[in-house]
Amino acid sequence: MFNLIPKYVFNRITDITPEMVKKMGAKAVAFDLDNTIVYDGGYRLLEGAAEWIESMKKAGIPLFIISNTYRLRSRIISKRLGIMAIGKAGKPRPDSFKKAAEMLGINVSELIMIGDKLDKDIAGANAAGAISVYVKPFMTEKIMYFYHKRLRKREREFMKKHKEKFEVSVFD
Ligand SMILES: [Mg+2]
Repeated sequence: MFNLIPKYVFNRITDITPEMVKKMGAKAVAFDLDNTIVYDGGYRLLEGAAEWIESMKKAGIPLFIISNTYRLRSRIISKRLGIMAIGKAGKPRPDSFKKAAEMLGINVSELIMIGDKLDKDIAGANAAGAISVYVKPFMTEKIMYFYHKRLRKREREFMKKHKEKFEVSVFD
C-alpha cells in the first residue's frame, strides 16, 4: 500500500527557502517538472522558478529533476537548467529516488522530493524514504483532461481529510 500523505505542503515550489530545506534535515532537493516547476507539458519555467533555482544553487543545495516525462524532454530541460535529471522515472516506484540520492552521494532520507501529484511524487518519495513535499498544481491540465479532473478532485478530498497530519501546511 502506498502512503499518499506528504510530510510538508506548500502552495508553490518558490515558497520553499534554502533555510527551510536545511530545517527539514535535507542535503539536496529533487523536484518534478510538469505543474511543479514548468508549465504542464511545456518547457517554460513557472514565474519565479529561475530565481528559485538560482537561490538554491547559491545556498549550495544540490538540485535534481525526477520526472515521468520522456527522456529527451527531461534531458533538454536538464541541460538548459544545469541540473541532473532522471527522465521516465516510473514514479511512484521508489527506484529513481534511490538512484538520485546515490548520484548525489547522500542518503535518500536526506533528499527532499517536491511534486504536485500525490499518487506519483508523494507516494514514490514516501516509498523510497525521501522527504515528501506536496505543492499545489500550478494549472488545470489540458493533457488527459478528464483523467486529471478526476485525479485532482480525489486529491483535494484526500488533502482535506488528512490536513492535520502535515508538518507544515500553507496550502489554500
Ligand atoms: Mg507534475
